[in-house]
Amino acid sequence: MGSTIFAEMSALAVRTGSVNLGQGFPDRSGPASVVEAVHDAMRAGRNQYPPGHGAPELVEAVIGHQRRHYGLELTADQVVVTTGATEAIAGALLGLVDPGDEVVICEPYYDSYRAMIQFAGAVRRPVTLRAPGFRLVAAEVEAAVTDRTKLILLNSPHNPTGRVLDEEELAGVADVARRHDLVVVTDEVYEHLTFDGHAHVPLATLPGMFDRTLTISSSGKTFSFTGWKIGWATGPADLVAAVEGAKNWLSYSSGAPFQPAIAHALEHEESFHRELRDDLARKRDFLCEGLEALGMEVHVPQGTYFVTTDVSSFGHADGIAFCAAMADRAQVVAIPTQVFYEDGSPHGRHLIRWAFCKEQDVLVEGLRRLQGVDLRAGR
Ligand code: PMP
Ligand code: GLN
Repeated sequence: MGSTIFAEMSALAVRTGSVNLGQGFPDRSGPASVVEAVHDAMRAGRNQYPPGHGAPELVEAVIGHQRRHYGLELTADQVVVTTGATEAIAGALLGLVDPGDEVVICEPYYDSYRAMIQFAGAVRRPVTLRAPGFRLVAAEVEAAVTDRTKLILLNSPHNPTGRVLDEEELAGVADVARRHDLVVVTDEVYEHLTFDGHAHVPLATLPGMFDRTLTISSSGKTFSFTGWKIGWATGPADLVAAVEGAKNWLSYSSGAPFQPAIAHALEHEESFHRELRDDLARKRDFLCEGLEALGMEVHVPQGTYFVTTDVSSFGHADGIAFCAAMADRAQVVAIPTQVFYEDGSPHGRHLIRWAFCKEQDVLVEGLRRLQGVDLRAGR
C-alpha cells in the first residue's frame, strides 16, 4: 500500500529543513483545561482498556454535541468511539462492504479512503469535483451508481478542496441514496472549521436520511489534538454496530485517559473551536493573498484548514515536480493534490494543497522563502 503522502512530505520537510505547510496538524495544542483533564484521568487510574464502545461520559458528550448543534437525538447504541476518524472510516468500510462491492467517492479523496476500499476488496467509483468551484453534481453521483454499489462515501467540509457542500448538493446525494437504497458514510471531521457563513449541514439531518447515514467525526481537528486520535461514528444502531464489529478486531479500544478529557472538551470548551475558526479565517486570507501574489491561481476554501492553488503557470510537468522543486529551492513543503486523484487523472495534476493551521510567523516565513526563489520549471 506504500506510505501516506503526509508522512512522506513531513519527512521531506525535516530532511530539507523546510517550513511544513503539508501535513494538516496545528502548531499549537488545544485548551489547557483538556490537557489537565487527561492528567486528572491518569491520576484517577483511567489507564486500562476503556470499553470498546467508548467511555460512558464520552458517549454521552457526543450525544449532547449532536443534539445541541444539529438537533439529532441519539441513544448510546447509536455512538461508537474510535481511534480517530481513521479507524471509524476503516471500520465502516471493513464492516459494511464486501469484496466486489462498489463505493462511490468524491475525487480528490482523502488518502485513507482509497487504502481502506482496497483492503475491503471493493471497487472505487470516483465522482470528480472540478476546479474552480469543486461542486458535487448529483447527476454524476447517479451515473456512478450500479447494481454493485454498496455505499456513497462523502466528505464535507472537504479535504483537500475546502468545499462545504451546500443544501442543494446534499439534497442531490440524499435523493440518489434514497432512490437506490444506499448507505452514505459521511466524514465530517472539519464540521466546526467553516468560514464566511458557510455552515456545515450533516447529511443525517436531511429528511429520511438518518436511517441510512453513518456520520464520522473526530476531536483532532475540532480541538487541535490530532495526536490523541479520539474519533467517533454515529448513526442508526445497525450501522454503528457494523463499525464496532470491525473495530473490535482493529484497536478494540484506545485512549483511556483521553476519552474523558475529550468529553470535557465537548461539554466545556466550545468557545475554543469558535476562536480557532476565526483565527483560521484570518490565516486563510493571509496565505491566499500571499500565494496569489506569487502568481498562483488560488481556490479560496469555504472550510477546513487547507487552500488549493493551481500552479500550471510555473511550467512543471506536475504538482509532484513542483513540490520537489519548492522543497529544494525554497525549503517549503506542501502537498501535491494529484495523489488524491485516480492515477493519471488530468484534473489534479497542477493542484497543490497548503495548510494554514500554522502559527502566523510560520506562514510569514513560508511566504518569504517562496518570494525569494524562481519556482519556474527548468531554473
Ligand atoms: N478524514 C479527513 C477528511 C481528514 O482530513 C483526516 C485527518 N484529520 C481524517 C479523516 C483522520 O482523522 P483522525 O486524525 O481523527 O484519524
Ligand atoms: N488529515 C491530515 C491532512 O490531511 C493528516 C493526517 C495524516 O497524516 N494521516 O493533512
